Amino acid sequence: MQEWRTRWQVNLDWRPGRGVGQVVEKRVDSVGELRDAVREARANPDVLRFRYAPVRELVGEPPHTCRRGHTYDGGSFTRVRLDWAVCSCGGHMVYRCKWPDCGDVRLDPEPAIDCLPSTGTMGKTPPEGNPERP
Ligand SMILES: [Zn+2]
Ligand SMILES: [Zn+2]
Repeated sequence: MQEWRTRWQVNLDWRPGRGVGQVVEKRVDSVGELRDAVREARANPDVLRFRYAPVRELVGEPPHTCRRGHTYDGGSFTRVRLDWAVCSCGGHMVYRCKWPDCGDVRLDPEPAIDCLPSTGTMGKTPPEGNPERP
């Protein structure tokens, strides 16, 4: 199963030797790494500006079988149907098992106790990156 993890995206306006500017993007995993990245950016005279924002990323292995053990990557008749459920936690991938008479629906990540996944507003893929306002 996967889970949502908060990472940090750092964008640097970088001008090596004050020549042509470019934007360098990187992502770090923790507040500690963010602090290091900010310290480096401040110390580097080629960095004109930087900004950072928290982003949510799905990490981990997606499930490969339904809860009855049917494999999700079979032939075209049994291949899983994927949807996306919007939720306050960031969202859930919805796996609908297509094996005959199964009908298992599995959410990934597993809904937490305060999750209210809305299957009425589903797209096909998770929102990529999904930067939040600081
Ligand atoms: Zn199944
Ligand atoms: Zn949720």
